[in-house]
Amino acid sequence: MTMRVPHVSRCSRRGPCRHNGKLRYSIYFMPRRPSASAENAAPSLKLSPRGVARLQAGHPWVYRSDIAVANDVPPGSLVRVTDLRGKFLGTALYSSSSQIAIRMIARGEVADLPPLVAERIRAAIVYRKQLVSNTNAYRIVFSEADFLPGVIVDRYNDVLSVQILTQAMDAGPVREIVVETLAAELQLAGIVERVDARIRELEQLAPRQSGLLWGQKSSTLVEMNGVRFHYDGLEGQKTGAFLDQRENYAAAAQYAHGEALDAFCYQGGFALHLAPKCSAVTGVDSSRPALEMAEKNAALNGRELEWIEANAFDLLRDYAAAGRRYDTVVLDPPAFAKTKRELGKALGGYKELNLRALKMLRPGGLLVTCSCSFHVSVPDFLEVVAAAARDAHKSARILENRGPAKDHPALLNVPESSYLKCLIIAVSD
Ligand code: SAH
Repeated sequence: MTMRVPHVSRCSRRGPCRHNGKLRYSIYFMPRRPSASAENAAPSLKLSPRGVARLQAGHPWVYRSDIAVANDVPPGSLVRVTDLRGKFLGTALYSSSSQIAIRMIARGEVADLPPLVAERIRAAIVYRKQLVSNTNAYRIVFSEADFLPGVIVDRYNDVLSVQILTQAMDAGPVREIVVETLAAELQLAGIVERVDARIRELEQLAPRQSGLLWGQKSSTLVEMNGVRFHYDGLEGQKTGAFLDQRENYAAAAQYAHGEALDAFCYQGGFALHLAPKCSAVTGVDSSRPALEMAEKNAALNGRELEWIEANAFDLLRDYAAAGRRYDTVVLDPPAFAKTKRELGKALGGYKELNLRALKMLRPGGLLVTCSCSFHVSVPDFLEVVAAAARDAHKSARILENRGPAKDHPALLNVPESSYLKCLIIAVSD
């Protein structure tokens, strides 16, 4: 994690020296007095050796059970982190209620959080400018991956969707600087906050309503890869769309052909990208509001697709049993494994879905299969799809083994940040 260490100007010579025209003494001859910044320093907290080892392994989170001493640390404050002997390890954001007690924010001292947040938001915007093209909808700030733990910002053309997920980032001055910086840096008509009531409860934050934080506009139109979508910041799941799949939509469309089935289609992200390449596209989802929006999106693009409101598991089983065949199948189910304990069950779910889809594919077919459970690793997912292919007596060649779009960066040392897997597979009998 690149963290900025505040620049400390030190005179290299010992004894009195001239610095900026003023006479001053180097630290060598000065009696040790607390400096101004030390007087205002953040409260301190000591980690157990296991906590220290975790930081040294590169992970920015330390769990409450690995905090040895934390006296009088206010909820949501900046905190100086040390080992048991008092050796300084960096500055973190403290949560008084989450199991993740601290999230590291800098290797050096931080006196004041809002200016650091502003600087990192600007850096996140610059990073996206280098990486993102062919869309006006993309993630601008992705929490730890942009060194802003607990802040997520998605851009939908001229409307932003903001999520604040930690005590420290919920503080009034931090919220203000987030909105102020985004409004100053981008051409916007509105900034919407999406509130996750469960996370606020876990962080012991007062309840809030989703709503406009800035400007007047909460809905707009976006375009990605030449496909247009409606966006309503105060409706829908997640922050409104599944932006992490943006590059996978385009990749899947490259190989799609014939009759296509988009299972778990939500508002038609894959389906609408496949439509220009396929003779017919059917989208399936259990959410009626999602399908209503999918239909509006189809109209916006001048396309006619079939939308079916159904449990995709049942539909795949019934269609497979009835001998229904497709040339292209997309599987993008919700996360099956929300906790590690659910992993076994989740792998069973993926196996079953992939098995049914593989059986339904005509020779030369294409399977686009995704998992957004971070407890399911890339090797786990490859193995489960391989097992499904064996059981279906199909040969499967991997065309692409993909992750989320580049505007959703993952940190190498934070396995929790790489969650989305998308395999594009050429299937033959
Ligand atoms: N592919 C979509 C995102 C899918 S998210 C996109 O790119 O935008 C997962 C979707 O699965 C949600 O829309 C949810 O409503 C739907 N879903 C959840 N359980 C389902 C089930 N049993 N059958 C069908 N759809 C389901």
